[in-house]
Amino acid sequence: MTYGTKMKRVLVTGGAGFLGSHLCERLINDGMDVLCVDNFYTGNKGNISNLLENRNFELMRHDVTFPLYVEVDQIFNLACPASPIHYQSDPVQTTKTSVHGAINLLGLAKRVGAKILQASTSEVYGDPEVHPQTENYWGRVNPIGLRSCYDEGKRCAETLFFDYHRQHALCIKVTRIFNTYGPRMHPNDGRVVSNFIVQALRNEDITIYGDGSQTRSFCYVDDLIEGLINTMATEDDFTGPINLGNPFECTVVELANKIIKLTSSQSKIVFRPLPEDDPKQRRPDISVAQKKLNWNPRVTLEEGLNSTVYYFKKQLSQ
Ligand code: NAD
Ligand code: UDP
Repeated sequence: MTYGTKMKRVLVTGGAGFLGSHLCERLINDGMDVLCVDNFYTGNKGNISNLLENRNFELMRHDVTFPLYVEVDQIFNLACPASPIHYQSDPVQTTKTSVHGAINLLGLAKRVGAKILQASTSEVYGDPEVHPQTENYWGRVNPIGLRSCYDEGKRCAETLFFDYHRQHALCIKVTRIFNTYGPRMHPNDGRVVSNFIVQALRNEDITIYGDGSQTRSFCYVDDLIEGLINTMATEDDFTGPINLGNPFECTVVELANKIIKLTSSQSKIVFRPLPEDDPKQRRPDISVAQKKLNWNPRVTLEEGLNSTVYYFKKQLSQ
């Protein structure tokens, strides 16, 4: 229910992060009234500085592990560090963010009757034996490893979303996001695309973990945001889970070579130990998204990397 205005009031948790800031921007451009909630653990005000003066945008510093009392029509729950080095630096807080965060936001959605979308992850599939990964695959996740705080936190959040749906008839949308990259990733984010681009632009060694034969499928941020918006717009009885990602798969070595070439870098490749439980392969089966959302990623890896390199060149020269 909206009071005094016809604009939809949309809450974005983790709105000052990489994906959250792009989502806030898109929602503002779509004519929404946006409340961005963030504790700035990995996000920052710089990501949303272009929105701060907008009268339809509001920023609140808040940790989602604590209850939140606001009136909104829709919730996008993105709060959670996504890079392994960041989510592993305070693993207890990572699990709390996913689990307590989900409980608090689902409670809020129930109280105000809001639709709620969860930014879940391909990590719920763990180190998968099914390839490409379909939504009906239950995954292969180590419950006690270094990645578990993130993987199991996100899996438990999915459980909570479906139980709130079954028990309280909440309108939920669970999206499983595969590796996404683009402008506004933090230079020290630690994820592979930003690491390699920053290393290449500085002509520093490119650090490949393991032998680099592990694969990922990289989605450009604009495509992903379109997928999130389309998912929120599906009919109320569509819950997901739904994979969102780009099915173009490449090895980490291929990615490194592509980035070296695009940046005309002098960097050399060096090999470092593979982190524990690092998934060997990952590629989304996106047939549900294609059918349900009429959605397909449009930006090729080359185009997306070019825009991202352009962004980091500017960042590093400041
Ligand atoms: P990010 O680290 O840039 O953004 C996360 C944001 O959440 C940051 O602004 C951070 O400060 C905020 N945050 C963290 N803990 C919080 C808390 N307790 N309370 C309030 N805010 C908190 O990461 P991202 O890449 O933008 O990821 C956004 C979401 O998408 C995450 O939930 C992540 O798990 C999910 N996701 C991302 C990817 C990807 O490739 N980018 C892949 C799968 C899933
Ligand atoms: N990786 C790498 N060098 C880096 C950062 C990451 O080789 O400097 C590897 C990492 O081991 C993994 C892949 O790149 O196999 C993707 O890592 P990222 O942290 O981006 O995402 P995730 O492992 O969560 O998919």
